[in-house]
Amino acid sequence: MTDYPFETGVYRPPSEGGSASLLVRFTRNCPWNHCAFCTMYKTEKFELRSLDDIKSDIDAMAALGRDIETASRRLGHGGRITRDAVMALLEKAPGLNSHYGADMFIQWLAVGGKTAFIQDGNSLIMNPKDLIEALTYLKTTFPTIQRITTYARARTVAQRAIEHLKAIRNAGLDRVHLGLETGDDDLLKKIKKGVDSQGHIQGGQKAMAAGFQVSEYWMPGLGGQEMWQAHADNTARVLNQVNPHYIRSRPFRPIPGTPMAEWVNNGTLTLLSPKEQLLELKRMITGLDVTSKVCFDHMGNHWRTTAGDLVFTHDYEGYQFPEEKNKVLERIEMGLDFKGHPPLSFLHM
Ligand code: SF4
Repeated sequence: MTDYPFETGVYRPPSEGGSASLLVRFTRNCPWNHCAFCTMYKTEKFELRSLDDIKSDIDAMAALGRDIETASRRLGHGGRITRDAVMALLEKAPGLNSHYGADMFIQWLAVGGKTAFIQDGNSLIMNPKDLIEALTYLKTTFPTIQRITTYARARTVAQRAIEHLKAIRNAGLDRVHLGLETGDDDLLKKIKKGVDSQGHIQGGQKAMAAGFQVSEYWMPGLGGQEMWQAHADNTARVLNQVNPHYIRSRPFRPIPGTPMAEWVNNGTLTLLSPKEQLLELKRMITGLDVTSKVCFDHMGNHWRTTAGDLVFTHDYEGYQFPEEKNKVLERIEMGLDFKGHPPLSFLHM
């Protein structure tokens, strides 16, 4: 058996990356797995994990934390996570060198152990009672945790009773990351999102009503030249009705092996040029009437101004709307003035 056996999944949002969040795997992979642009869990089967397995993972992490602390005290480091304390433990438990999650856990402890992200693709699919018990166990085991977030599908949130959602919120789940992608019904159907715009609105509004911080992701360029106007207008329409805390831009990129990459290859989907992407963004942003933070916290938001700087900050907190809406629109105009955008072939590699 591995030393400190616990599982760590591959995916988490960038805002939970680096050493920021403890990754705790409550389920494996995605229960939907049909989206035409997505490769995340495609070769893997969805599995619920038992409460016993989840608790056992949390216990293994706690044991690792305790043993580092003990090693640190023996070295006279007062329990702090120091390099020497970690090296001393590695001598006793060399299996940690090849443990997929050990580095993540140690980094997280070293920066204070404040936030956690529940993996994988749709934690709300769990039986609410089990999810509440797992969250409670996590918070009790690691009392330093101040914020817990997860991915969820709007359709699943919409199906949950509001009292269950509130109980999950009260058990410590603070934020849900929802993949809207687009608010356009034709495009949602085409990309096989498995939910229509009304379902997105219901799921988003219910998550807000339950008291979660809601982070909605949309994909500029998803409709290509064929559907860009409806994509922009209906995405703004849905977001206006949800008015989430965060709106995050994840520009579409056809990933080889996905149906959407095939549509690009066979000419049924025409990619937007960088300038066209900015025109689509301008249309979507103009249509927004929200009090959200609008974020471009991903390297795919690549556009530059004539001065050579990025059009948008990649900061996780983005721009506060409506106060900074004009600023974002001004930045888009600065991007539209720029003549040296990289060619499409480079951007979509
Ligand atoms: S729901 Fe999310 S993880 Fe699942 S297939 Fe769609 S985009 Fe991928």
